[in-house]
Amino acid sequence: MNAAVPNLTTATVPTSPHVMNTYGRLPIAMSHGQGSRVWDVNGKCYLDALGGIAVNTLGHGHPKLVPALQDQIAKLIHTSNYYHVPGQEALAAKLVALSGLTNVFFCSTGLEANEAALKLARKFGHDKGIERPEIVVYEKAFHGRSIATLSATGNPKVQAGFGPLVEGFIRVPINNIDQLKAATANNPNVVAVFFEAIQGEGGVNPMHMDYLRDVRALCDERGWLLMIDEVQCGMGRTGKWFAHQWAGIQPDVMPLAKGLGSGVPIGAVVVGPKAATIFQPGNHGTTFGGNPLAMRAGIETIRIMEEDGLIDNAVRVGGHLKAALARELAGVDGVKEIRGMGLMLGIDLSKPCGALVQRCADAGLLVSVTADTVVRLVPPLILTIAEADEVVAILCPLIKQLLVETA
Ligand SMILES: *Cc1c(COP(=O)(O)O)cnc(C)c1O
Repeated sequence: MNAAVPNLTTATVPTSPHVMNTYGRLPIAMSHGQGSRVWDVNGKCYLDALGGIAVNTLGHGHPKLVPALQDQIAKLIHTSNYYHVPGQEALAAKLVALSGLTNVFFCSTGLEANEAALKLARKFGHDKGIERPEIVVYEKAFHGRSIATLSATGNPKVQAGFGPLVEGFIRVPINNIDQLKAATANNPNVVAVFFEAIQGEGGVNPMHMDYLRDVRALCDERGWLLMIDEVQCGMGRTGKWFAHQWAGIQPDVMPLAKGLGSGVPIGAVVVGPKAATIFQPGNHGTTFGGNPLAMRAGIETIRIMEEDGLIDNAVRVGGHLKAALARELAGVDGVKEIRGMGLMLGIDLSKPCGALVQRCADAGLLVSVTADTVVRLVPPLILTIAEADEVVAILCPLIKQLLVETA
């Protein structure tokens, strides 16, 4: 074991006097993982239905990914964008083939991918002579926590304390084309429409297929960029490479991150012809973006997903999981809706259910709760039917118990 890494095998959970207090953490520290399971420093095993928040596409310790990353680390971790990085061309070619788009910019996180998308939209406007470009964004959206992306986010809690917000956003509700048209009527400054194909942090809220097609048509008619944030719902999670593909449409700009590197930090903005030449040398860049280690992680993640049929697995196991949850929770008072596609599912309850996160962990299951009332399941795409059954067997009794407790 690397001597620089503290050996957390004591029976106590570490406290963090020096790490800034930015997260409401559970009193659990993980030690290692294998497949869809992780073990904490006390040796307790958890079934991982969170996947590091839709990041660990291949689960933990994947036998094909680990040697590939070891090989890459020994060869080159980082050079710089002063030089060509062959892995960037290889991963870009793959993302272009999977999306039908044409060009890719690499960065390291979701908010950076979205930040690049927002800059693309603004420069798209300026290039057309629009001095004060405006971008349509959505209620309950989540696009990240930089100043620009938190301004695009539709959650007052994320924005509180960080004003003044970045201007130039018009906010509309999801799945209502008339409201989108009304909010943008006679406004020559609109340059783009920006949303998640399935809102993640906002509570697993899918855009309807008709709405996606209507917005695509409206963007074409008005000359706007359609920018679809696939940071959480992309990379095979819903059973297509990208969630918008269910509607048979293509965006002009598509930010990716989370699942793209199976845990190695990586982000990407994939664009089509309308956005491919907006950035010129000097307009945008990042030190870490597209480094050889991240590129190898992306290339190998996609290769292994294809080899192991993980898109089909997301459809099959996700469909099984959703049906089993529906069966187990049918008629339960307080279960409002089970939403989502593939292995991106949300169970919307009639009351706040944050307490379920700890209770599930105590019972050996990792889940998250988002938007106060929604239990979110975004497990690794390697999840098996048996593991999906295990999720249901642990989770559903805890949901029922919570719902019968008086507030
Ligand atoms: C997580 C997320 C982001 C932000 O990604 P970070 O890597 O945390 O910056 C942006 N958009 C969506 C849809 C996300 O789910």
